[in-house]
Amino acid sequence: MKPIDQLLIRNVEIMDLVGRQREKADVVICGDRIDKIGQVDFETFAGQIIDATDHLLLPGLIDMHVHLREPGREDEETIESGCAAAMAGGFTGVCPMPNTEPCCDNQEVVRFIKKHAETQLVDVLPIAAITKGRAGNEITEMVDLARSGAVAFSDDGSPVRNNAVMRRAMEYAGMVDMLIIDHCEDADLAAEGHMNEGEMSTRLGVAGIPNAAEEIQVARDISLARLTGCRVHIAHISARESVELVRRAKQEGVPISCEVTPHHLLFCEQDLVDYDTNLKMNPPLRSAQDIAALEDGLKDGTIDVIASDHAPHSVEEKDVEFAAAPFGVIGLETILGVVLHQIVDRQVLSMEEALYRLSIAPRRLLKLPVPQIHAGEPANFSLIKPKDTWIVDVKKTRSRSRNSPYDGMTLRGVVTAVVNKGLIWQPNF
Ligand SMILES: [Zn+2]
Repeated sequence: MKPIDQLLIRNVEIMDLVGRQREKADVVICGDRIDKIGQVDFETFAGQIIDATDHLLLPGLIDMHVHLREPGREDEETIESGCAAAMAGGFTGVCPMPNTEPCCDNQEVVRFIKKHAETQLVDVLPIAAITKGRAGNEITEMVDLARSGAVAFSDDGSPVRNNAVMRRAMEYAGMVDMLIIDHCEDADLAAEGHMNEGEMSTRLGVAGIPNAAEEIQVARDISLARLTGCRVHIAHISARESVELVRRAKQEGVPISCEVTPHHLLFCEQDLVDYDTNLKMNPPLRSAQDIAALEDGLKDGTIDVIASDHAPHSVEEKDVEFAAAPFGVIGLETILGVVLHQIVDRQVLSMEEALYRLSIAPRRLLKLPVPQIHAGEPANFSLIKPKDTWIVDVKKTRSRSRNSPYDGMTLRGVVTAVVNKGLIWQPNF
């Protein structure tokens, strides 16, 4: 990562994800702004030059669901290491969830995170808790949290169990026009489960979590969104019944949105045959039928966003028997590659539609400015070689944790630079 003085990106294909246009041009960046787009005489250009033939330049990617573990579990991830993983993955923005220690349920923790991220290229946009300590009882000071820089509210990792508490939270969040992001899981139904409930969990002798555990809470959230008018976003949707509920609610005009993770699209419960704890996540990997429904949800726009749910865990925590391992996998560095290789190559989405869900759609939901690739605008973009493939080597991850299910896999799309806040990151710098 280094500051930009003058930078020329030559012969690049600019992908305008808002106007859905592509154009080949040279792009000049001065400091933190795009200075010029057009034809530039590179022989007389004084600054850094990147030959970007076969590259795409797109609005900086943003991941609206990550866990950075700082404050509290810096052995697993810090703001700095999480940002390093984000840059390597092509991201210029991340939204960390509030399940830190202490919990991000007050202005001090929001300010701590923002202060520690100040010098980073990546915009770190904290999501504050809905309830104090994410305990589900007492609502946080939402207006103050919004004022100090929180961009949304979530108790992610835990559901908000009490319907009246959730209703009140939505009323307050609605007052400041902020998004409520819910981790939808009926705590009683999911209680002792470690994987999807079905034939496979019976065969493996592992307690299951039924689709209904998610579906019930999604239905509850839709009812409350309709009642309060608050914008509600379902985190990591996994069950086909939930997709159908969101589809119908959207048709009805309920202010609801949702996201899917790459692992829920790529893996299914059958992959758990070896009890690999790097495939243990919450919600659990579901069935092939659920994956088909998730793909349909992406195709028809029911699913708005793709997010990693990057959840670092130490080797000691994950290297235990399946039932004792914590839920979650890392994913910031691999999400783009999985999306291009699996979602685009399998023609679930076009490249433009897939990248829109990793860049524009999350910012629109969070009411954040959308990066524009025009002269005079702040330079916030990712530069990728979409056709190149690479093999995931988890030993080389920038994350402090190694719990990736993608180790050894071939993915498509190589990140060659990210630019934001007057800084550039390139691999091997
Ligand atoms: Zn969650």
